[in-house]
Amino acid sequence: MPYDNQRAYDRLVFELSSPGRLAFSLPESDVPVEPALNALPAKYRRATPAALPEVSELDVVRHYSRLSQMNYGVDTHFYPLGSCTMKYNPKINEDAARIAGFARLHPLAPEAAAQGALQLMYDLGKMLAEIAGMDAVSLQPAAGAQGELAGVLMIRAYHEARGEKRTKVLIPDSAHGTNPASTALAGYEVIEVKSDAEGQVDLADLERHLGPDVAAFMITVPNTLGNFEPRVMEIAERCHAHGVQVYMDGANLNAILGITRPGDLGFDVCHFNLHKTFTTPHGGGGPGAGPVGIKSHLEPFLPAPVVAKKDDGYFLDWKRPQSIGKLQAFWGNFGMHVRAYTYIRTMGADGLRAVSDNAVLNANYVMKRLEAYYDVAAPGPCMHECVLSARKQKKLGVTAMDVAKRLLDLGFYAPSTYFPLIVEEALMIEPTETESKETLDAFCEAMIRIAREAETDSRGIHEAPVTTPVRRLDQTKAAREPNLRWRPRS
Ligand SMILES: *Cc1c(COP(=O)(O)O)cnc(C)c1O
Repeated sequence: MPYDNQRAYDRLVFELSSPGRLAFSLPESDVPVEPALNALPAKYRRATPAALPEVSELDVVRHYSRLSQMNYGVDTHFYPLGSCTMKYNPKINEDAARIAGFARLHPLAPEAAAQGALQLMYDLGKMLAEIAGMDAVSLQPAAGAQGELAGVLMIRAYHEARGEKRTKVLIPDSAHGTNPASTALAGYEVIEVKSDAEGQVDLADLERHLGPDVAAFMITVPNTLGNFEPRVMEIAERCHAHGVQVYMDGANLNAILGITRPGDLGFDVCHFNLHKTFTTPHGGGGPGAGPVGIKSHLEPFLPAPVVAKKDDGYFLDWKRPQSIGKLQAFWGNFGMHVRAYTYIRTMGADGLRAVSDNAVLNANYVMKRLEAYYDVAAPGPCMHECVLSARKQKKLGVTAMDVAKRLLDLGFYAPSTYFPLIVEEALMIEPTETESKETLDAFCEAMIRIAREAETDSRGIHEAPVTTPVRRLDQTKAAREPNLRWRPRS
């Protein structure tokens, strides 16, 4: 069979192995090997050498370079994954994060030797507080979901400090899935509040649940249908009248930067995803950063330590007797803090406002171009993302999953599918502010082409994807029984 250079990536590096081939060439060692080997007790020594791949340096470089080219990322392609905000990550953030004074600073360096890092964290907390209208921010949480957990634990500590026993947290059915999960983890019973026909919180249902046993109301803004909750201030007032704390899931602040602030809307707690709103990279499970902002009445409960400032510099304040405790081995994902700090400083206030203006414009542009072809989940205009439904296509035998797979062949990553759960055959599209009109048009044309194919050639869609390294996987098996380990043939 001819050597197929393009398909060489199909093989594992183990399968490239050739006995005796080496990835280095060094002069013969004049250090005796035996005494060193014998220093290790026999029971710890292998009977046979490890089955490592025997490959040349060039084999290794080509193998991993090819693998890296199979990667799909925002640096190579448009990535309209709704709720995830796959916006471009400016490279200047990376430059800053690689400055040796940041990148190589030991997390246990004495405060006097870490003043720059402490100042950066202190200032980033202040900037995020200003952006969100909050009084203080903890940078410790390593993800949005952990920010939620920290926020809910602070709410719990607050009620307990006042001698109040509250056991429930109210969450609308349009919330992000992490909201009920972190709430349950914090020991609360989750009560679902219904949405009305417009996808807004059903106020009568909310009122029915409010009472002295409710600790908090937790709402995703904008909600997962892509809409801003128009009665959010009234909701906060009604909750406060019952002593209920109001939590905003602000993972995506992309629609409201410089336009409104969670604190001004009446929220007591709000977390941010630096990896969504503030251009720190994400994907593949991390690293993330989910700082949490709070109003002053919750300050005593902040995770310890808190980065603080006194006359002669910055320090870690551990003397916080009411703190919910420490959330991380160290102080948070500091590299992400450097990137977000750099981003906010390079954008400035006007730049951040422009982010939201453009994110909302782009999402509405996509929604308008596609509404004649796909059903829209909630009447527009939308915020930074739009939710379509493939229910029309489903009648022709083409599901949201099929649309997603076909998009891969047409050169686009798929939108989020089947989320939010309250929309049948959901396709959640978040174009982000960093994409050009040309890119958005090309994406819309691909979506329109698929809608047409659904009417004429649905069989072809069911075949998709045909251009990717792997075709359709058994999604359940791929998630539940991942086969990630190579074993030598015996
Ligand atoms: C992404 C997201 C989260 C969860 O953030 P993680 O960093 O993945 O834990 C929570 N809420 C909303 C609205 C989100 O979009």
